[in-house]
Amino acid sequence: MKYKELVNVYEALSQTTKKLEKAMILADFFRDIDSKNIGKVVLMSLGLVYPKNSEEEQGIGDKTLMKAISQTYGVPISKVEDRVRELGDIGQVTENLYKEKTQQTFFSKELTVEFVFNSIRKIANISGSKSQPRKIAIISELLSSASELEAKYIPKTILEELRLGVGEAIVRDAISNAFEIDKEVTERAYALTNDIGLVAEFAKEKGEKGLKELNLVPGRPVKPMLAQLSPGVDISVKTMGNVICETKYDGIRIQIHKKGDEIKFFTRRLENVTQAIPEMMEPVKNGLPDENFIVEGEIIATRDGKPISFQNILQRVRRKYNIDKAIKNVPLTLYLFDVLYYKTSLIDKPLKERRKILEQILKPGNKVNLSDKIDVNMDNIDEAKKLFEDSIAKGHEGIMIKDPNEPYIPGLRGKKMLKFKAEPETLDVVVIGGTYGLGRRSKFVGSYLVALKGEDDELKSVVHVATGLDDETLEQLTKLMEKYKKYDKGTKIFVEPKIILEIAYSEIVKSPEYEAGYSLRFPVVKRIRNDKGIDDINTVESLKSMFKG
Ligand code: ATP
Repeated sequence: MKYKELVNVYEALSQTTKKLEKAMILADFFRDIDSKNIGKVVLMSLGLVYPKNSEEEQGIGDKTLMKAISQTYGVPISKVEDRVRELGDIGQVTENLYKEKTQQTFFSKELTVEFVFNSIRKIANISGSKSQPRKIAIISELLSSASELEAKYIPKTILEELRLGVGEAIVRDAISNAFEIDKEVTERAYALTNDIGLVAEFAKEKGEKGLKELNLVPGRPVKPMLAQLSPGVDISVKTMGNVICETKYDGIRIQIHKKGDEIKFFTRRLENVTQAIPEMMEPVKNGLPDENFIVEGEIIATRDGKPISFQNILQRVRRKYNIDKAIKNVPLTLYLFDVLYYKTSLIDKPLKERRKILEQILKPGNKVNLSDKIDVNMDNIDEAKKLFEDSIAKGHEGIMIKDPNEPYIPGLRGKKMLKFKAEPETLDVVVIGGTYGLGRRSKFVGSYLVALKGEDDELKSVVHVATGLDDETLEQLTKLMEKYKKYDKGTKIFVEPKIILEIAYSEIVKSPEYEAGYSLRFPVVKRIRNDKGIDDINTVESLKSMFKG
């Protein structure tokens, strides 16, 4: 299949802002693609060559890419950098350079989707000391064969920055539409596998029935089921009738998979962190059976029996070096609260049965425990309140209120699992820019421009936040800003949307100044949310409804 066909679709997608139209354009396109290419094309319509959360990463630095562009078009790298700063879009820069080129060594062979896809994968797999020239050679080969429009989209795909307003939801709808599959079936298949290319292949080859057969496989992480906010314990228990209440531990969510002899730990974002927490391996092996399983729980760090800051755990879990020291300084405890697989998939069973199985298969120990849990209804509602108070007194976050009859629905933030916390609700936002400080703080980015997700997944700025940052966090954030820098202007810096912050605020206000149309009064950074990604940030829509509420 010619790459040109895909690029024409990219162009058509860029001509409309309407989600429905985008989904229709993609559906029409997907329908006629052969089985060999459908998986690749679907991934590439999201600007990816590896499924999200795959252990393989596409990534290549801006610098290497700019160097490749400068070499391909025979212009100095400073010119490429200036243009990127000016236009803010590397695809447009490449397209312009293509138009301006004089020597004609270009367009030597027609690019195919397969060739572009495999080449970008190849770049990702190159490592080692002499890797940069090899990566540059591959990019140059692609660009040298590209037409003007292809040259625009190749760098965008390499950087995972198509900016076509096409998110997973649109692609899922397009797959449903193209192959006449119920939307919920596509959604479930995706949440179970996290591989949109695989879902598309199954949809094309086996239809709805085949897609329904896709199921959990130990070793392949599953999107976690999420919670909504409870408006109050009484009202939630009254609505649900019988509930399970559990302590809400303030740590990080961990999904543990056992397949054969191998045990893997994944975070909420489905990142494999097995290497970073070696001390949990033995307790999990000893506490859980030999058969294949998937269990879920929260890991917290404690000192003298009290939980310590969430930030500490994240640093622990993401650590690659000095692990021994961290094991001693930041001891971890795991509280399990669900089982998704034991010998077979359990997600369609009600929570009360899954919990029973978990209780049967776990031998609790020092490091691996069951979450505190009680059964509550309106007759003993005081016990729920007591659990809440105890949980706060012990330094945890509050309680979870769960419907015991509910199956596990991967990826769903539904009404059957609620959280009730002591602290007011916060927002998860992504940093898109910042400003360096003055005087003593001129080395640090002191103020952060943050955004929420708007319609079509476009980012909309919402506020500048500059408080809540101690020196250590400021230094850490500044390093991240420099790592993800797209360009700077004077003291301002603009970055890839990679850093997620959780912020508290006193009030939501209307604001023409920010793209979201709303802003926040007295925003304060609570923490960096390394365990969340761009898909997890709040939306302008949710802010709007909170404002109205
Ligand atoms: P928050 O920022 O409030 O932690 P979140 O967006 O990370 O929320 P939610 O699904 O909204 O995630 O809240 C539930 C989270 O609470 C779970 O993802 C899990 O990490 C954590 N948690 C702690 N204790 C429990 C428990 N007993 N049962 C389920 N989840 C728990």
